[in-house]
Amino acid sequence: MFNKDNNDFKKFESKVWLSSPTMHGPELEYVKEAYDTNWLSTVGANINELERLVCEKTGAKYAVALSAGTAALHLAIKLANVKKGDRVFCSDMTFDATVNPVVYEGGIPVFIDTEYDTWNMDPVALEKAFEIYPDVKVVVIAHLYGTPGKIDEIKQICDRHGAVIVEDAAESFGATYKGIQTGTFGNYNCISFNGNKIITGSAGGMFLTDSLEDANRVRKWSTQSRENAPWYQHEELGYNYRMSNVIAGIVRGQMQFLDDHIASKKEIYYRYKEGFKGLPISMNPFDEENSEPNYWLSCMIIDKAAMCKQVRGECEALYIPEHGKSCPTEILDILTMHNAEGRPVWKPMHMQPIYRMNGFVTREGDGRAKTNAYISGGSVGKDGRPLDVGMDIFHRGLCLPSDNKMTVEQQNQIIDMIKACFE
Ligand SMILES: *Cc1c(COP(=O)(O)O)cnc(C)c1O
Repeated sequence: MFNKDNNDFKKFESKVWLSSPTMHGPELEYVKEAYDTNWLSTVGANINELERLVCEKTGAKYAVALSAGTAALHLAIKLANVKKGDRVFCSDMTFDATVNPVVYEGGIPVFIDTEYDTWNMDPVALEKAFEIYPDVKVVVIAHLYGTPGKIDEIKQICDRHGAVIVEDAAESFGATYKGIQTGTFGNYNCISFNGNKIITGSAGGMFLTDSLEDANRVRKWSTQSRENAPWYQHEELGYNYRMSNVIAGIVRGQMQFLDDHIASKKEIYYRYKEGFKGLPISMNPFDEENSEPNYWLSCMIIDKAAMCKQVRGECEALYIPEHGKSCPTEILDILTMHNAEGRPVWKPMHMQPIYRMNGFVTREGDGRAKTNAYISGGSVGKDGRPLDVGMDIFHRGLCLPSDNKMTVEQQNQIIDMIKACFE
């Protein structure tokens, strides 16, 4: 019996991570400065300077530092005036933090299928969605894994239908589309400094805008909506969403290394791409003419013909090993076995138990909620049954170890282990 585990690869001594924080030194000095000067709360030089640096980098006029990217998205959804019962079009293949804030405000996410060119929201499906739900006024788009989506097409469609865009650039800080930074295309824009993002503060996020009024509203909401009065006076609902000056110190120190991180992630991406030549695999694609990703995570997708049988239930996966073929489950198992961390592609929101009764629109779809049977059917991709694009990419794709600190030798071994999966 052929056994792919029976190989000579050694287990990595220290874990090779998907994407872990990479610190350099100045971060600690800014944190120490906050400590030494006793500016340990949500006011201080680190916050002010970080907001200035992010504006300088992105070209946004105003930036408001918050406790998380999710907090930024929540306040963006409030600014976009999403009310109870309002439908909101959302990217489907993304982290659930993109869409949960819609629900915090009582809105109903309707998911828009993914395209194969950049793995982001499909403008054709979005147009279709406006035919089905012409009253929708808000669209939430994410740039998956640091790859800008089809921004021009999506903006045109939204303009035509009078809808505003909430741009979730949590994963794509530093990426550009036609030379312009992501996080500046939407009416309301968000980035994240969560622990595994391109740069980090351990946590944190930011709201970006060109509107002074919006920036001021977000700043006020994020600090419990205090009015200008001698006591704590409140006219509207407030939140405790402001960034701490300690965290801002870490991010402030990281800012000067953003371009270095992008450069090393880019090298990782191209080393994989080169290493996979001749295999039935491609990398997560991007629009090479118009966009420069930040290459946050390197991902791969297996050709349909090279997929062994793989079945995913709600919380478990099984596959049948086969000569010359493989699947994400097998590759992820082999990475884990050798102390390296990969991850499945984000499981599309329309396949998540919490959202499976929500609307989901594909290029050809009718926008109705799919049933459980359709979604959890194990024989995905068999017998020519039409798949939605997100489900197909989830089925055949995976995120590769993309840590800045991974050595070339470690990456070469990972490439060789993946090669062995197709023997
Ligand atoms: C990380 C992430 C967020 C949330 O950011 P936090 O800072 O962790 O709250 C939102 N959307 C996407 C696509 C993300 O990857």
